[in-house]
Amino acid sequence: MGAPLLKTEVHHRRPDLAGLTLSELETFMVELGQNTYRGGQVMRWVHHGLAVSFDGMTNLSKALREELATRASICGPVVSARTESEDGTTKFLLQLDDGHCVETVFIPGDDHDTLCVSSQVGCAMGCRICRTGRMGLVRNLTAGEIVSQLLSVRRELPESHITNVVFMGMGEPLANFDQTVRAIRIMTHPNGPQISWRRLTVSTCGFVPKIRELGRELRVKLAVSLNAVTDEQRSAIMPINRTYPLAELLAALKEYPLPRGSRITFEYVLIGGFNDSDADARQLVRILNPIRAKVNLIPLNQDPEGEFQAPSPARVLRFQEILMSRSLMAIVRRSRGQDILAACGQLASGVEAAT
Ligand code: SAH
Ligand code: SF4
Repeated sequence: MGAPLLKTEVHHRRPDLAGLTLSELETFMVELGQNTYRGGQVMRWVHHGLAVSFDGMTNLSKALREELATRASICGPVVSARTESEDGTTKFLLQLDDGHCVETVFIPGDDHDTLCVSSQVGCAMGCRICRTGRMGLVRNLTAGEIVSQLLSVRRELPESHITNVVFMGMGEPLANFDQTVRAIRIMTHPNGPQISWRRLTVSTCGFVPKIRELGRELRVKLAVSLNAVTDEQRSAIMPINRTYPLAELLAALKEYPLPRGSRITFEYVLIGGFNDSDADARQLVRILNPIRAKVNLIPLNQDPEGEFQAPSPARVLRFQEILMSRSLMAIVRRSRGQDILAACGQLASGVEAAT
């Protein structure tokens, strides 16, 4: 699948091998006069061997390694800062080729670790609770830059066991659709980082036509940042709702082809006095009734510049109780890494954040 690599692209810009699919790597090697199977070998060096240079690719001839070094790149972004939270969550600031930065968050678990990757530098969606939203969109990430977040963290934390990937870092993955789909195909490929389809989740603010397209292209788990139960309430904090109101969003989700046995995760940021009443909870149950859903309740992470309040702990418990008593699966997401601004909605890295 995917658009064939343009010859000009190969010859004039050194391709980032982390962002190529197996068939593209094969084509690339054939163009260098090599046998097709060399594509698979290089792909495994990049993703399994976590190679940062061609020198160590010992099953390739020295001449080929030297040629590759002039024709392609594999070094990926530079880890320019690393901050560890009291709870073990670790935030990495990665600097891209053009100097822009993105953040990626490592979240250790009991038996498996999760990486929360970014899909864009900043975000154009403008959700009013979100620090990334406040940055605006700087640019889309390439598939190579998305995949490289995983490769970089695996290099930095050799003891880690990252089996789960969530697209819940900076950016709206479905607004960078092609590169996101490409990154997912690479991440789940046997020659790639080998993340299982069942352990990969795309999170969206509700970009309806792209949700439908995603369902046609891939079978991948979906999370939706709902955050409200009426159009009025949702439009007040999430501008996307003015284009794709709740009824359209819920209709698309009802038809979304989930992987077997999975549910759509609804992220619901609880905002004190805004969307945390008993009536809101009951309305949430009602609107999610036709959908195979589970809910992650996320108490708002307050931003010093933000205008919204965190909910009281008692409200959070009560809200959860109402959902659970009506058989809607709901967990309260303790936000991880709040002390290092690594929690939901707190990512706004580097150069851009300072301005
Ligand atoms: N753009 C995608 C992926 C980013 S996920 C999306 O919005 O789904 C970021 C998550 O953090 C979203 O679920 C969002 O609702 C949540 N969030 C944003 N600001 C927050 C805040 N201040 N406190 C807690 N969660 C927040
Ligand atoms: Fe963008 Fe998601 Fe933040 Fe909204 S919540 S501004 S879509 S990153």
